[in-house]
Amino acid sequence: MTTMSTQELDVLVVGAGFAGLYQLDRLRSLGYSVQVFESGGDIGGIWYWNCYPGARVDTYAPLYQYSREDLWRGWEFSEFYPGWDEVRRYFRYVDEKLDLSRDIRLNTRVSAAEFDDDARQWVVRAGDGTSVRARYLVMCTGFAAKPYVPDIPDLDTFAGECHHTGRWPQDGVNVTGKRVGVIGTGASGVQVIQETAPDAAHLTVFQRTPNMALPMRQRTLDADAQRQLKLSYAERFAMRGKTFAGFDYDFIGYGAFDVPDDERKAIYEDLWERGGFLPWLATFNDILLDADANATSYAFWRDKVRERVDDPAVAEKLAPTHAIHPFGVKRPSLEQRYYEVYNQDNVELVDLRETSIERITPAGVVTSDGREHKLDVLVLATGFDSITGGLTAIDIRGTKRESFADVFAGGTRTHLGTATAGFPNLFYIYGPQSPSAFCNGPTCAELQGDWVVECLEYLRRNGLSRIEATHEAENAWGSHVAELTAATLFPEAKSWYMGANVPGKKRELLAYPGGLPTYLQKCNEAAEKGYDGFVLA
Ligand SMILES: Cc1cc2nc3c(=O)[nH]c(=O)nc-3n(C[C@H](O)[C@H](O)[C@H](O)COP(=O)(O)OP(=O)(O)OC[C@H]3O[C@@H](n4cnc5c(N)ncnc54)[C@H](O)[C@@H]3O)c2cc1C
Repeated sequence: MTTMSTQELDVLVVGAGFAGLYQLDRLRSLGYSVQVFESGGDIGGIWYWNCYPGARVDTYAPLYQYSREDLWRGWEFSEFYPGWDEVRRYFRYVDEKLDLSRDIRLNTRVSAAEFDDDARQWVVRAGDGTSVRARYLVMCTGFAAKPYVPDIPDLDTFAGECHHTGRWPQDGVNVTGKRVGVIGTGASGVQVIQETAPDAAHLTVFQRTPNMALPMRQRTLDADAQRQLKLSYAERFAMRGKTFAGFDYDFIGYGAFDVPDDERKAIYEDLWERGGFLPWLATFNDILLDADANATSYAFWRDKVRERVDDPAVAEKLAPTHAIHPFGVKRPSLEQRYYEVYNQDNVELVDLRETSIERITPAGVVTSDGREHKLDVLVLATGFDSITGGLTAIDIRGTKRESFADVFAGGTRTHLGTATAGFPNLFYIYGPQSPSAFCNGPTCAELQGDWVVECLEYLRRNGLSRIEATHEAENAWGSHVAELTAATLFPEAKSWYMGANVPGKKRELLAYPGGLPTYLQKCNEAAEKGYDGFVLA
């Protein structure tokens, strides 16, 4: 697999999103030889691939960036919730400031890796046939590296344009005056629907589960607003590690029934007015744990949404009287005019619970009521093989020659959500059983990323060159995650958080539900004990 000329590195980082770029910068400045391999044609991670109409962050601007003062001082987002193109410009700015590109190989997909235990190195092969040797492999492949396309009969016969949101053409798709169909109403679906509706001749939305979307409260940021916001940046960044989801706000310190009805309602109103993820993650602390508390939150959301939809039958599909699953246990999207879209004459909502998709024809989508929905453009907003897909898609062979696909077949196995037994000298960031999908992306990139950097430093200081998680530690971490999960309402939804969107994938909560502070505490405790749960050599 390797040749005389194989390059040798201290660290190979896979992925050039927030996490991978952070690793590159930190490790390089500590004197490691590091390279990043990135399969996309540019840096930015998901913001390279997800350039569909309306793609936009759901984390507000102050926290959707690195916390380094020399970076944020010189950068200004023009909107509170920036769009994909502005996020890309931000990455270019970071690249320029930190001179990252010289150590990044774009259009380079890592296809395979195997561990050479004698040399204590990973031998890593890229899609173009080249290989490198690296002492450590840091997987920063994110949670959305592998788009999921459902197995719809005859999908390939569609004669119009058909694209997955996570593989959107870089030069865009013209939807103006076209008949557009969108399958899926998850976070990407909501964004593409509200953006496309004004321009499309006709828009057909195929909805399986309504999104419990929340008001974004978008606003532009002028120079004065920027100045004001920046006064609080340092404080906001410092808060991140102390809150459940790595933001600068957290759940209220009591439950929904600890206050009288009118006070509860007033708190919901206030959160709704402030918008963003606040009605989800700054609400009562039992909303994601207690079904009755959750029901109050659902009822509030439902009534707010229904006020905005003219046709009661459509309103019932978008915000059903009886919740299909608890509020907030599936990822809510942030919306700007999503519900008003359904009052437009050119928009039709097809409820897949009533009429399922039977097959695709060259002309469109046929549903089980026999109708053919004629389309020019078909958008697959069908999500991802989330959280594990980036790892299982690569043929990484550890000490037992098993791949992640083999080891995770019966369920994910990790220690601290960052390493797996049988895969020495390999760490992953924003991956399974870590806060990942429950945590703000840049926060995890930095805080989980720091832990990995400190670990490599510890090994170097102590003359060690091999680290591997133990099975016992994995079992303990798995039990801890399962115990936390059992106390939540997450298992009650068929969600990608639970691996339920991909047929055959084990049903389990893929992200760590104990909150970022507890997670960091556990990671730091392990480090203080000389990397408890790992064997070092
Ligand atoms: C549409 C969308 C919107 C989102 N909005 C938000 C938000 O508002 N707030 C938030 O906190 N999070 C959001 N997220 C989550 C998002 O993943 C994180 O914010 C952040 O991008 C994570 O950074 P990362 O570096 O860990 O991973 P990513 O940004 O996912 O980057 C991973 C990179 O790894 C590369 N890669 C994968 N496999 C390979 C391989 N085999 N070889 C080489 N390269 C590979 C990919 O091409 C990709 O560039 C969103 C995700 C999506 C899909």
